Amino acid sequence: MKIAVSACLMGDNVRYDGTNKRNEELICLLEGHEIIRICPEAMVFPIPHLPIEIKDGSIMDSDGFDHTERLTQACKECLAQIDGCELVILKSKSPSCGYGEIYDGSFFETIIKGNGIFAALCEKNAYKILTENDLEEIRRLLG
Ligand code: SF4
Repeated sequence: MKIAVSACLMGDNVRYDGTNKRNEELICLLEGHEIIRICPEAMVFPIPHLPIEIKDGSIMDSDGFDHTERLTQACKECLAQIDGCELVILKSKSPSCGYGEIYDGSFFETIIKGNGIFAALCEKNAYKILTENDLEEIRRLLG
């Protein structure tokens, strides 16, 4: 199966603080499949960079600068990269990759319902989306 995965879940140091969210269990489940790693934020920002969150529909950094336009363009480019993928596995809560819940834009780690920009694009384009919190379903689908 051809699967798109948030690069930070695969261990790439692409998060705003230069770290990753490598998920060993997920990586084991993905063994033998064709993986397309995507990270919209790494296409826009240097690493490390200020944290960003979605506030009232706009992508803002913690200094109050608006990055909506640039990040939206990067997400569109990522969407083109994942053409043909049967499954998209995204990092939860991210303003780009978050699916179902994201931070609220206050930078106080408050969670609200919503999708990151890339996740919303994937949903609009009818991709099946799961997160690292859906390992049982991923196991069932790939098993
Ligand atoms: S959650 Fe998405 S945008 Fe953020 S670091 Fe991971 S892959 Fe990149």
